[in-house]
Amino acid sequence: MQVILGLGTNQGDRFAALKTATQKLSAQLKNLRYSGLYSSPAMLLPSSPPEWAIEFLNMSVMGETEANPEELLKTCQQIETEMGRAKEHAKWSPRVIDIDILLYGDVTLQSKSLTIPHAELHNRAFSLLPLLELKPDYKHTKNLAENHGTKRIGHFA
Ligand code: ADP
Ligand code: MG
Repeated sequence: MQVILGLGTNQGDRFAALKTATQKLSAQLKNLRYSGLYSSPAMLLPSSPPEWAIEFLNMSVMGETEANPEELLKTCQQIETEMGRAKEHAKWSPRVIDIDILLYGDVTLQSKSLTIPHAELHNRAFSLLPLLELKPDYKHTKNLAENHGTKRIGHFA
């Protein structure tokens, strides 16, 4: 199945985190392809400490897997854990790496642990813009004029 994952990081050496995560993913996904690199302001809650306002680096990767969606989620979570992301974390706190399943073929599914396509894909420029580089024909409902400060800042690889 062809899948697209969304990666985000806003803690520590963010570029190094993307390099490490994509390297680990390349062991799990065939024909891995990379979007460009994007920069995006952190989403915060009114109650979030102001020091959480650290710019994110975001990108998407596309590849093929034989894993089912739950197995793929486990792989993503295992890489997050290996890279030092705490299991328990406050909503939208800084993270060394976040790996979300944006698309799994054209499968639609909703379970306790997974919503596919990702529930916020159509609202988030930092997910949708990199995805559209890899899958330009993806049908979505977002007005891309409202990009909430997401900027393409260069190539990843
Ligand atoms: P967030 O990505 O919102 O910052 P987490 O990475 O901690 O937060 O994910 C919270 C939960 O989201 C996970 O435990 C996972 O079960 C759930 N989830 C639902 N749909 C998806 C998806 N498409 N990709 C990744 N996680 C998902
Ligand atoms: Mg996540």
